[in-house]
Amino acid sequence: MSRSDFLVLRNHGMFHFKDVKVPRSLIDRKFQSGCSIQNCDATCCAQGVLVDPVEKARILSHALLILKHMEPHQEKNPAKWFEGEEEIDSDFPSGRGEGTQTREYGCVFLKRNGHCVLQAAATAEGKHRFMLKPFFCIAYPITIHQGMVELEDLEYADRKSCCNADDTGALSAIEVLAAEFEFVLGAEGFEELKRLSSKS
Ligand code: SF4
Repeated sequence: MSRSDFLVLRNHGMFHFKDVKVPRSLIDRKFQSGCSIQNCDATCCAQGVLVDPVEKARILSHALLILKHMEPHQEKNPAKWFEGEEEIDSDFPSGRGEGTQTREYGCVFLKRNGHCVLQAAATAEGKHRFMLKPFFCIAYPITIHQGMVELEDLEYADRKSCCNADDTGALSAIEVLAAEFEFVLGAEGFEELKRLSSKS
């Protein structure tokens, strides 16, 4: 990939990367009309998610609050919420990531209605809805790989009404994924992305 194949952002909010790159091919992706992350059916929660150790510690320190909002089918033992083995991963601020455990119903934090109990518990307790939710869950389908912003395109999912690109569609990635770009890049980074991508 040559330098002109991606946009280089310097005003992003991810302190563990000097520059963040966004491929032009991502900006050029299209989505079908009516596509919205609001149509999420939690297909992406089937395999759980990797979290930073800081996120894991925050979740475990709120275990009692989370347990209060879990449903009967969900794993109630906080010692079984995470895999127990970290992997080296420079995409996390701590340089390490660890997976949430999964059950037959998906991620241990997944409720029957497809909502995340981490978000549901925080909201019900009057906290910010993302206080406990892992970075990569909020960012989805945007993801980061070695400082490159990418679009998760799950091969087993066909979710064109929600997050799978459809290159015959009329909506741009920036239109459909504005909230996710802004969350990942910060307000200044998102403005920089819009400015750079509007130049040919
Ligand atoms: S933590 Fe919540 S949003 Fe993330 S994969 Fe698990 S259930 Fe889904």
